[in-house]
Amino acid sequence: MSAHRDLLTQLDAAIGDADHGINMERGFTAAAAAMETANGATPGEILLETASTLMFRVGGAAGPLYGSGFREAGNSLGKAASFGPQDLVDALRAALAGIQAVGAAVEGDKTMVDAWAPAVEALGREISAGDDIVEALGRAREAAEAGAQATVPLQARKGRASYLGPRSVGHRDPGASSTSLLFAALERALREA
Ligand SMILES: [Mg+2]
Repeated sequence: MSAHRDLLTQLDAAIGDADHGINMERGFTAAAAAMETANGATPGEILLETASTLMFRVGGAAGPLYGSGFREAGNSLGKAASFGPQDLVDALRAALAGIQAVGAAVEGDKTMVDAWAPAVEALGREISAGDDIVEALGRAREAAEAGAQATVPLQARKGRASYLGPRSVGHRDPGASSTSLLFAALERALREA
C-alpha cells in the first residue's frame, strides 16, 4: 500500500476526494504493526485484529468496507490454528459478503466489488478443480486486476464517484485497484511461504 500510495491517491483524485492512497497506507501500516505483537494468535484472530485496525485507521468508505471484509474472513476462519485452501475460499467469500452487506454494491457498480467478486470466483473455481493453492491465487490475482481494469469504462453507481454521474466514466476505480493489490500481496505471501 505504501509503494502504491501515490497511484491510489491519483485514482481517487480523479473521481473521489484524493485520500485513498494515504488512507490505505495508514491503515495497513498500523495493521502490520499490530501483527508484530500478535504472537500466538490464530489466523482468524489476526484477521479480526486487522479488521478493527482498518475500521479505525482507514478513513472514508474504505475503512468500514475493508474492516467488514477482514472481520468476516476472521469469523469464517474462527479459532482454528491453521487453514487449508477451501477454508481460504470460504473466508474470502465471507469477506466479499461482508463488504457487500456494508456497501450494498454489486458487480458493475464501479467499486471494489468489481475486483473482489471475480477474484473470489476464480479462486473457488481453481481450488474446486484441484489446483495448487499458489497457482489458484495467481488466477485470483489476475481476475482481481482484470476486474479493476474493467471499471474504467463504467459509470459509478455507488459511493462518492457516483455523484459525478457520466463524468466518472474513463477512470479506474480506486477501491477496485487497492483490492487488486491485496490479492497480489496474498499470492506473494503464499509463494514466499
Ligand atoms: Mg477517498
